Amino acid sequence: MQPVGLIDGEIIAIDAKVVSMEDRGHQFGDGVYEVTRVYNGKCFALNEHMDRLYRSLRELKIPAVYTFSELAGFHERLIEESGILEGGVYLQITRGTAPRAHGFPEVTVPQLTMSIRPLGTGGALNEVRKNGCKVLTVKDERWLRCDIKSLNLLGNILAKQQAKEAGCFEAILVRDGMLTEGSSSNFFIIRDGVLWTHPVNNLILKGVTRTLIVEKIAPELGIPVIEKPFSSETAKTADEAFLSGTTTEIAPVVIVDGNPVGEGKVGPFTLQLQQAYQQMIDKECGR
Ligand code: PMP
Repeated sequence: MQPVGLIDGEIIAIDAKVVSMEDRGHQFGDGVYEVTRVYNGKCFALNEHMDRLYRSLRELKIPAVYTFSELAGFHERLIEESGILEGGVYLQITRGTAPRAHGFPEVTVPQLTMSIRPLGTGGALNEVRKNGCKVLTVKDERWLRCDIKSLNLLGNILAKQQAKEAGCFEAILVRDGMLTEGSSSNFFIIRDGVLWTHPVNNLILKGVTRTLIVEKIAPELGIPVIEKPFSSETAKTADEAFLSGTTTEIAPVVIVDGNPVGEGKVGPFTLQLQQAYQQMIDKECGR
């Protein structure tokens, strides 16, 4: 159960030095990525992740040189070679290698690298999913194309670090007084039985987990959803709050900026959503 890498379809050691120093991902962050969760040796929501990958590539005008079935096959090979049953697959595609210049090179071949790592069932994340976490609101200083899952994550990294240094699990980003999303997750609140989250536009990443919650889980549970920006003042009056993401899954938020959310403990709606999400994973990945 060792981490394993893959470059352009070939299995390699995770620490192999394989990418050119003139790769545009290395020099400019000129590329896109996806992270897909593996449960019971099977990829969860792979179609949705690959659809988003193709969209990100289109938005950056990076040619898609691998078909869906090739990419699905690479995921399977990584699972097989590593023997990892519970883990995460990281996939990145850069525009490729060319002498350094800002404009797109005339000819480049996009560079695919992938890796798989085990994700334990224990650990800090499990504790957070069970008992909830603290979050810190931080100014959203990212660019205006947060809908593209690009390799450029400095705004996200700096916000996460600020939250970490304040003893918080996640930073909730604030743009023009409105809460957009977490530094590596989407953010939801529940008020009077209604689920609120930021609408899908250029200011957030359209999370695969978010989509499953908004389009499938909440409707099936009969929980109304409002996709509308809300302020930290509104969030302060929430009964419950939570984060969603591929690795985060559904993580209750119990404290925002030092103030308890509702009663300051994991609430019934969040619990219900967590259980329904787990059932969805079990159904798709057969745990
Ligand atoms: N927003 C951001 C900024 C993220 O990095 C992530 C994690 N990829 C998410 C939201 C959640 O997306 P997903 O549910 O697809 O993992």
